[in-house]
Amino acid sequence: MGQLNKPGGNSPIFNIEARPQEHDAVISRQGQWARIIHSRPCTCLKSGKVDLFCNKCNGRGFVYYFQSEKTIWEENSPHTGQNILKPYWTPITDVIKVQRKLSQVQGGNKNYKIDSFNDDSIYISGQPNLKHYEMVQCTYKTSNFEYTYQTFTYNNNNFFRFDLRVDKIYQERQDQNDWQGLSNAYGVECDINRIVQIENLTTSVIYPITIATIKKQYVYIDISTITITNGDKIKISIEYVFPEKVATTQISSKKVLEKWGSDVESGDVDATFQSWTDIKDGDIITFLISAQSKYSKMKRTVKSYDEIPEFDVIEILENIIDEDEVEYKKGIDFEIRNYNDLEWISNKPVTGKVYTVVYSYKMTYIVQTGTKKHINNENKRFPRNVLLKEYSRVKGKEMRIND
Ligand SMILES: [Zn+2]
Repeated sequence: MGQLNKPGGNSPIFNIEARPQEHDAVISRQGQWARIIHSRPCTCLKSGKVDLFCNKCNGRGFVYYFQSEKTIWEENSPHTGQNILKPYWTPITDVIKVQRKLSQVQGGNKNYKIDSFNDDSIYISGQPNLKHYEMVQCTYKTSNFEYTYQTFTYNNNNFFRFDLRVDKIYQERQDQNDWQGLSNAYGVECDINRIVQIENLTTSVIYPITIATIKKQYVYIDISTITITNGDKIKISIEYVFPEKVATTQISSKKVLEKWGSDVESGDVDATFQSWTDIKDGDIITFLISAQSKYSKMKRTVKSYDEIPEFDVIEILENIIDEDEVEYKKGIDFEIRNYNDLEWISNKPVTGKVYTVVYSYKMTYIVQTGTKKHINNENKRFPRNVLLKEYSRVKGKEMRIND
């Protein structure tokens, strides 16, 4: 690593405050792929207590969702020279500001009137007309979701797995930008956000989407109310979300400890996000490139499932043995649902029994800043740092603060 040419410290030589594109380029290079899930309290919490059998939150007390829209701040957007802009991100869902950036000598900044926009173009007016060599900065909103479909052959298996590797998606789009040649040795994938349509191409029947549930890259179909035969071609259309890049620093220095106050523990992380990422307390951040394994002692609850202390469980590695030496078989007696629900589907320990589970998981953190970090035109400031705490050490109620 080179030394930064600035007296007195390791701050960047350029001021990256209020320069979103430079900030984003740094995070893009130095950050790690992460899944960011927002959480909000479930309506069943109104009474002050969680409804264990609530069908919206499954007794967790909060529901998960992905960021649906992102704001692209001051992009140097390509334009035709005829007052038509072609921003990088599509579809465009709103346009906030279009400005020509010039020095005072050249006449200063100039705001243009936004006449209209469609999925990929913004039409502006105002004098003087843009010239090809002039930079034009555009602040606009775009959807955070993309669409795709895959066709599967039904074969007695009700799980359909999508291939949503980020490098494969970029290749298919043939993006002629700096994403090309992206390395993805860890097989990082996008997540399904919503099912759009399920069609049986063999019988031309469109099934109601209520028969399906989603988990990461999987769609599970409940076939109890539909007609489906081995060999049928099933086309599933989905909406999915890309992971984000997040740059982190392990918190260890005294300086950082002072900054965050006294509730910092070892293992906590200082994180910086791209300018379009909305972050608030309680959000769940999973780093997608590293998997680890551990065992946890768990106690059988009254629910149909028990919650594993780590959030993003990939796989249960061994059969489960309870305190009475009774063995429960993987895939027969239990399976993982959602992110970390150990669902009992056949034989199960009696309520209150203790058992040990060995599993692999991806490291997950909870955002705990004490302040809202949503940015707007007035307070945009980079870098934006927040404190992340290890998921397994955060108590349930602390995740639901500030909403
Ligand atoms: Zn609920």
